[in-house]
Amino acid sequence: MVVFAEYIWMDGTQPTQKLRSKTKVLEVDDVKKVEDLPKWGFDGSSTNQATGDKSDCALHPVSYYTDPIRGWPHVLVMCEVFLADGKTPHPTNTRAALRAAAKKSEAQDPWFGIEQEYTLFKGSRPLGFPDNGGFPAPQGPYYCGVGADEVHGRELVEAHMEACAAAGMRISGINAEVMPGQWEFQIGPLGPLQAADQIWLARWLLYRLGEEFGINATLYPKPMRGDWNGAGAHTNFSTKAMRNKGGMKVIEAACKALGTRHYDHIQEYGANNTERLTGRHETCSIDQFRYGVSDRGASIRIPLQTAQDDKGYLEDRRPAANMDPYRVCRVILETVCLNAKPVLGGVANGTTGKAAQVLAAVTHGSH
Ligand code: ADP
Ligand code: MN
Ligand code: MN
Ligand code: MN
Repeated sequence: MVVFAEYIWMDGTQPTQKLRSKTKVLEVDDVKKVEDLPKWGFDGSSTNQATGDKSDCALHPVSYYTDPIRGWPHVLVMCEVFLADGKTPHPTNTRAALRAAAKKSEAQDPWFGIEQEYTLFKGSRPLGFPDNGGFPAPQGPYYCGVGADEVHGRELVEAHMEACAAAGMRISGINAEVMPGQWEFQIGPLGPLQAADQIWLARWLLYRLGEEFGINATLYPKPMRGDWNGAGAHTNFSTKAMRNKGGMKVIEAACKALGTRHYDHIQEYGANNTERLTGRHETCSIDQFRYGVSDRGASIRIPLQTAQDDKGYLEDRRPAANMDPYRVCRVILETVCLNAKPVLGGVANGTTGKAAQVLAAVTHGSH
């Protein structure tokens, strides 16, 4: 049979890597496992991954899902990028390091559930913001709202949820967000590689379906300055010990460990996050670290249900919408499951401006 395989990979754009894809037409008996999909290559000099004289990069399929747009037997294929030798992960291949950390943490059975917030744009303004430069009514009614005066872009959001489910991904919900034109979908709970692969593929589907609607989704963490919420990617996490009775003790120990490596995490949690983590709009300031039960102003929230049941998970509220889930899942595993030592460390008394320094190398805006 003929299979249109859409090979999808992360490019080398900094500070926020973007998705690229191209189609390989395969003549195969069936696609039953990832090994049925051949390795491939691309021109790295056009993706910020190579120079023109040594332009070949290798694509290694690592997971695949039904292509919900073309339908089965067509597939979406997530790939890792390798150097031309086919053995060395490309420096932009952040999944390779997550693979290693996931393997070492396997016995603790870690699960991730990621809430991906995003903002829909038509032209240069978010949906719901008038073209003439004016502003909609202040925030309040939009979160989980209904009605044409409050909700913008639902056709695309619904098509996206349908597509993720039809692809076979574990999409666990959607909701309209606090700012007009802002939405969220959730993936998980799943193991680290599956959760992270599905976030990248769900982002690809969102951009791809946006083409049909003339709407562009962006992950910029603070798309509108002023009294408008930013966009994050809350990362919910648990290990087997946290999910068992007595889990609260394990969760509290994890929160303490996360505090000792606050800046090691901030470094991995997305670009331009200083604009979003201000201490306002349901965030904790980027130069503070706090955890607490039910506290949406904390860095880490422990859901009330988890505290009541003495088992469950924690929610790391710091990652920005434009984070790379391979990097976020990796650093959480290193801190919580693999006892990594602090390098950049935690928040000392009266620390200010350290996050801006840490992120200085990655603060050039990108959508
Ligand atoms: P919020 O109240 O913060 O908006 P959501 O319902 O949007 O929460 O998201 C909760 C996320 O937590 C979902 O992605 C879900 O898959 C995930 N989740 C649920 N249980 C666990 C668990 N035990 N470990 C990790 N993630 C979990
Ligand atoms: Mn949510
Ligand atoms: Mn949200
Ligand atoms: Mn949340």
